Amino acid sequence: MAKFVGAHVSASGGVENAPKNAKNIGAKAFALFTKNQRQWKAKPLTQESIDAFKKNLELAEILPQHILPHDSYLINLGHPEEEKRQKSLESFIDEVKRCEQLGLDRLNFHPGSHLKKISEEECLEKIADSMNETLRETKDVILVIENTAGQGSNLGYKFEHLAYLIDKSEDKSRVGVCIDTCHMFTAGYDIRDKESYDKTWDEFEKLVGFEYLKGMHINDSKPDLGSRVDRHHSLGEGKIGLDAFKLIMNDERMNDIPLVLETIDDSIWDKEIELLYSFIK
Ligand SMILES: [Zn+2]
Ligand SMILES: [Zn+2]
Repeated sequence: MAKFVGAHVSASGGVENAPKNAKNIGAKAFALFTKNQRQWKAKPLTQESIDAFKKNLELAEILPQHILPHDSYLINLGHPEEEKRQKSLESFIDEVKRCEQLGLDRLNFHPGSHLKKISEEECLEKIADSMNETLRETKDVILVIENTAGQGSNLGYKFEHLAYLIDKSEDKSRVGVCIDTCHMFTAGYDIRDKESYDKTWDEFEKLVGFEYLKGMHINDSKPDLGSRVDRHHSLGEGKIGLDAFKLIMNDERMNDIPLVLETIDDSIWDKEIELLYSFIK
């Protein structure tokens, strides 16, 4: 099997519970927060918790490269105020180190927001600086930039933004992207039928390149194409529809990377995972 599908599972009670939660829904990949995503401070991971996490991964038969940890929502690597960017940077570096401790090789993050105080270009430059500072302070973990819907002042809604950040990175072996289908769609990239799907991914290949694709978030969308609103929906219930997901499941370019559901009804994740696998011809 070349496709690794899962969901963003709960790590409440400790990171070691995430692999169990993934196994319980038949996932072969998953995402998790390695700390409370709404708080700045977190206790360091204990050796006990790290060991239990690795043991449970083995029991779930999931490989580290099929896990896509997600950073805290508070972090803004492009914050216009230097003091606040530093706070974000410190927290981000801590998150990368937590991934290293858990034996994980990638960390998914939202690029950042200009908060209408600086230009998009200035903000992208700050994000690139933050990424390079992180690369220098850490080892091994790939920084995986997520595309966004472009809601509010969030950057990362254009492939050009992702390409810019890759281009500025001092170590290209440690930078990648995660494409969220809902964000892509509401940012204006259509994938609803074969023709639009091919056109969008051709553009991705031209501007970013599939060698940088280190994961995907598999979500349908409540809002329309180009609305720049970030609201996920269950597969087949939203404006994207199932055809796009059928195309993804049969596209070799999405082999061997974590494909992670962040759909709104976690009680049907097991069925959504099954549905996605049933699409493979
Ligand atoms: Zn996402
Ligand atoms: Zn989203």
